[in-house]
Amino acid sequence: MNNIAVIGSGTMGNGIAHVFAQYGYKVSLIDISEDALKKAVATIDKNLARQVEKGSITADVKQKALANLTTSTSVKEGIGQADLIVEAATENIDLKLKIFKDMDEVANPAAILATNTSSISITKIASVTNRPAQVIGMHFMNPVPVMKLVEVIRGYATSDETTKTVMELSKKLEKIPVEVNDYPGFVANRILMPMINEAIYSLYEGVAGVSEIDNVMKLGMAHPMGPLQLADFIGLDVCLSILRVLHDGFGNPKYAPCPLLVNMVQAGHKGVKSGNGFYQYKTGSKELVVADRFKR
Ligand code: NAD
Repeated sequence: MNNIAVIGSGTMGNGIAHVFAQYGYKVSLIDISEDALKKAVATIDKNLARQVEKGSITADVKQKALANLTTSTSVKEGIGQADLIVEAATENIDLKLKIFKDMDEVANPAAILATNTSSISITKIASVTNRPAQVIGMHFMNPVPVMKLVEVIRGYATSDETTKTVMELSKKLEKIPVEVNDYPGFVANRILMPMINEAIYSLYEGVAGVSEIDNVMKLGMAHPMGPLQLADFIGLDVCLSILRVLHDGFGNPKYAPCPLLVNMVQAGHKGVKSGNGFYQYKTGSKELVVADRFKR
C-alpha cells in the first residue's frame, strides 16, 4: 500500500495527509475548495517545521513529506489509483453518502474506502457502495500528528482482511489502533459525550459553576482539560449533533442533550470557533479572555 488519497482538507484532512506523507506515503489531498487546499498545505508545512524545531523529525523528512504531497479539486483525478482513500469531508450524512457513491465508481476496485466520521454509521455509508467489505471507519483524533489513537470501526459488512490491513497501516504511522464495532458514537464519543452532557447538566441545575466543574475533573480525575472547556474546543454544535445521534440511535432518554446546550447552540454560542461558549475566547484563537462567564 503506497498511494493514499484524502478527501477534505480541513482540520482533520490536513492532519491525516500530514502523517501519511511524513511516513513515506504518496498522498493526494482533495477538496472542493482551492482556498482550503492552499491553507492545508501551509498548515502542514508549518506543523512539519515545528516538528523539526522540536527535533522529532529531521529537515530531510520534512522536505520528503512535502514532496509526497499533491493536491486536487477533482475527486476523480485526485483519487487516481489510490490503494486507500480516507474521507474527512464535512460531517453531513447526505454529503458523505454522495462522496462514497461517487468514489466507489471511480476508485480502484481493490481500494479500501475509509471515513474519519465522528458519528455517522459506517454500515450506512458502506451500503451505498458496491464494496461494503472494503469500507471501514478510521477515526483519527485532533490534532492528528500528535494524538496516538485511531479508532478503527468495523461496519456490519467490513471484512477481517480490510480490518487487518487498516490496523497494520495505522501502526506504520506509529499510531495505536483500537478495533471497535459500528454502533452509535462508536466507543470514543459514546463515553465522552454523555460525560460532557452530564457536566452541562451539573451547571444547568446549579450544582456548581464552570470552573468548579472543570477543576473537579482536572484535579480529581487527572483529565488534562475539564469537560466544559473540552466541549468549547470540540464545538458545542458538534457536541449537540453527536448527542442527537446517540439519542436517536439508542432511543434512550439518558442521551437527551441538556436544554442549556441546545439553547447555547441556538444562540450561536459554539465555543472557541465563535469566541464564546462556557468560557470566552479571543476571536480566532484558543486564548481565554473570560475564565468563567457562568460564575454566580
Ligand atoms: P472541516 O470543516 O475543518 O473540513 C471539512 C473540509 O471538507 C472543508 O475543507 C470542505 O471544503 C471539505 N469538503 C466539503 N465537501 C467536500 C467534497 N464534496 N469533496 C471534498 N471536500 C469537501 O471539518 P473537520 O473538523 O476536519 O472534520 C472532518 C471530518 O472529521 C468530519 O467527519 C468530522 O466529524 C471528523 N472528525 C473531526 C474531528 C475534529 O476534532 N474536528 C475529530 C475527529 C473526527
